[in-house]
Amino acid sequence: MLAATKAKVAPGKLLINGQWLQGSGHGFDTINPATGEVLTHVSEASAQDVGQAVAAARKAFDDSAGPWRKMSASERGKVLWRIADLLEKNIDELAELETLDNGKPIFESRYVDMPMVADVFRYYAGWATKIHGETVNTFNNAFTYTLREPVGVVGAIVAWNFPLLLASWKLGPALACGNTVVLKPAEQTPLTALRFGELCLEAGLPPGVLNIVTGGPETGAALVKHPGVDKVAFTGSTSVGKEIMRASAETLKRVTLELGGKSPNIVFSDSNMDAAVKGAVNGIFYGKGEVCSAGSRLFVEKKVEDEFTSKLVEYTRKIKLGDPLDPKTRLGAIVSEKQMQTVLSYIESGKKEGATLLSGGKRASVNGDRGYFIEPTVFGDVKNEMTIAQEEIFGPVLATLSFDDLDQVVELANKNIYGLAAAIWTNDVKKAHQLSRRLKAGTVWINTYGLMDAALPFGGYKQSGFGRELGMHAIDHYTELKTVWMNL
Ligand code: NAD
Repeated sequence: MLAATKAKVAPGKLLINGQWLQGSGHGFDTINPATGEVLTHVSEASAQDVGQAVAAARKAFDDSAGPWRKMSASERGKVLWRIADLLEKNIDELAELETLDNGKPIFESRYVDMPMVADVFRYYAGWATKIHGETVNTFNNAFTYTLREPVGVVGAIVAWNFPLLLASWKLGPALACGNTVVLKPAEQTPLTALRFGELCLEAGLPPGVLNIVTGGPETGAALVKHPGVDKVAFTGSTSVGKEIMRASAETLKRVTLELGGKSPNIVFSDSNMDAAVKGAVNGIFYGKGEVCSAGSRLFVEKKVEDEFTSKLVEYTRKIKLGDPLDPKTRLGAIVSEKQMQTVLSYIESGKKEGATLLSGGKRASVNGDRGYFIEPTVFGDVKNEMTIAQEEIFGPVLATLSFDDLDQVVELANKNIYGLAAAIWTNDVKKAHQLSRRLKAGTVWINTYGLMDAALPFGGYKQSGFGRELGMHAIDHYTELKTVWMNL
């Protein structure tokens, strides 16, 4: 029996100007990937609805009448803090909704994702009062200074793998800087964003400051195309990121892109092997491998390859795959049937191209075949040119490669279009820091994997995108810098 749920799953509507409205599109169902059953029906925003949401955001932003701009920075910070308080008050319900909609283990949504969402809002609540320009010494007869102003209306479009967390990475800094937002959650996982919208209104966020338009690619494209949107903040695939950049060029919107990854996880023979094995397993199977920064390419120094691989396989086989609502589950359901088929076809390509299947490799059955589960899968003898070593699979599939020395692993690790993250396992401090500098990646972990903090920037090199989310540097992407020169 799959576990019973407490969360209320209501039909989804659009949030526009503080009102819940029916979208004029056909609407769509959101599915529980653990059972294949419909959770509820969700409204779909047409281009016209998106226009209404953008107009509401513009009005709320407006200098003279807009409620958000009229509030002091301190008041805005307090609203963000109250949002964090309400998130924590409703954390069990939000975690359960996320798990129902996405299939991720409740252990992750309750103890990792949702606490970080609250943390992100608290972090940026603090920033609201610390955003300022500078007075600059130039000429004796001049008073010259800069103002740091919000960009305006932000269109935020996110993927389904960390639905509310990815939204918080955009909403926290956008709102702290005084922008207003139209958020489009992923069509596979709209439920937590909608519940979050209710909590924002309860926290006193004025109408129109946050608008939520649910729908698929067409709704997203309408938002990107809209001339009233000043900035697009996107998390999703590299191919859609490119489309968004092209569409944004028309009105020269500001754009930040958080895209795909194929992150190398590098294990040296002088590392703590047990810790590295756990790090390799968590690096790929956490979040079902549907993690942009997943350690999906594992490079093991040849000297220890056999010993390491056998421990890796043994540890992988112990992972508890099952009902995502069971607190003991560590590997949940793949987000959709389509994604499951994509992952299974990558597994087939690995076998066809000559990699050795060491563990898993099949669809798994949890209480019948209704849910979209895949066994934790490990490939050995992978060559860097193989499809499973080059393309982002976005599922629980690990490609294991070997290397002889540092120069070789630098070359292999960097030979990929992506550059989101990397990890190094070694007890040699010098080697760890030298290698950190040579890897083309936005984040490098040493003797750990996947840790994040609201205060640390996250983002990609190369085709993993540009701009940084989290930390103080996100503020740059949600503000414009104005120079004022007064003749004295
Ligand atoms: P996707 O690009 O298909 O969709 C992402 C979002 O964009 C969805 O909301 C979707 O409706 C919308 N969209 C699709 N086409 C659009 C268009 N033409 N115009 C505007 N919006 C459009 O991505 P996905 O498959 O849902 O998500 C997985 C991808 O996201 C992976 O590549 C993953 O690596 C990436 N990701 C990156 C990060 C990061 O921080 N770098 C984090 C999470 C996920």
